[in-house]
Amino acid sequence: MVGLGPGTPEWITPAAQAALDAASDLIGYGPYLDRVPERSGRTKHASDNRVEVERAAHALKLAAEGRKVVVVSGGDPGVFAMAAAVFEALEAGPAEWLVIPITVEPGITAMLAAAARAGAPLGGDFCALSLSDNLKPWEVVTARLTAALAADFVICLYNPISKARPWQLGAALDLAAEHRAAETPVLFARAVGRPDEILRVLTLAEAIATAGTADMATLVMIGASSTRLIAREGAAPYVYTPRSVTKSPCATSQGRT
Ligand code: SAH
Repeated sequence: MVGLGPGTPEWITPAAQAALDAASDLIGYGPYLDRVPERSGRTKHASDNRVEVERAAHALKLAAEGRKVVVVSGGDPGVFAMAAAVFEALEAGPAEWLVIPITVEPGITAMLAAAARAGAPLGGDFCALSLSDNLKPWEVVTARLTAALAADFVICLYNPISKARPWQLGAALDLAAEHRAAETPVLFARAVGRPDEILRVLTLAEAIATAGTADMATLVMIGASSTRLIAREGAAPYVYTPRSVTKSPCATSQGRT
């Protein structure tokens, strides 16, 4: 399993690159496979994004036949991506698959790339949630989000919005406003590491007003109560979260309730 990082080839690790170079078969979602150059002797098996476990089982079947298979994911393969699907297929599959040597080559996940562009917003405690309710009920999303907001984590939201899920990001930001101040910094980091990258540093109130401008390629990061900005002339402010925390989450809660 190989993570391709957020977009630019410069953010692919040498170990991930070596695995790609040694592969006879590449398996993954089409847009990720498109990032890997065509090469003779290497077959690409593109698939839909929604059939992860079947795709994983296909990868294991080819590997059991002795092929050198690489399953590609964007970012890190273990973060809301294919590695878990491969292990799910392995667990459910035939015992002989257990002897297949499997390695996971990490990649730079979207929240780390976004954080690096913005400054150091993940300097304190943070957490990550997928806002997609394709694989879990929306009540689970809101329960976890509420707990994370109450604990004053910086919160990274993956899969914030899509055509099929247009309202979830707005609902999540409304929930955030019940726990955090309207001026809390919020990042909309879109297509980080790609030519169409856009980084927007907003307040929570602005993020609520413009939630519809985020898309599937956007990582949304909601600051903690201590996350702050350093203004710059002619450039976006730096965003950072100090490492030290002096107050308990309850004492720092500044929201509307
Ligand atoms: N395995 C990937 C995440 C897959 S979930 C990783 O580790 O990054 C897909 C979500 O990741 C997207 O909806 C978006 O929220 C985020 N994402 C992936 N690539 C991104 C990029 N280049 N810039 C911003 N967000 C990105």
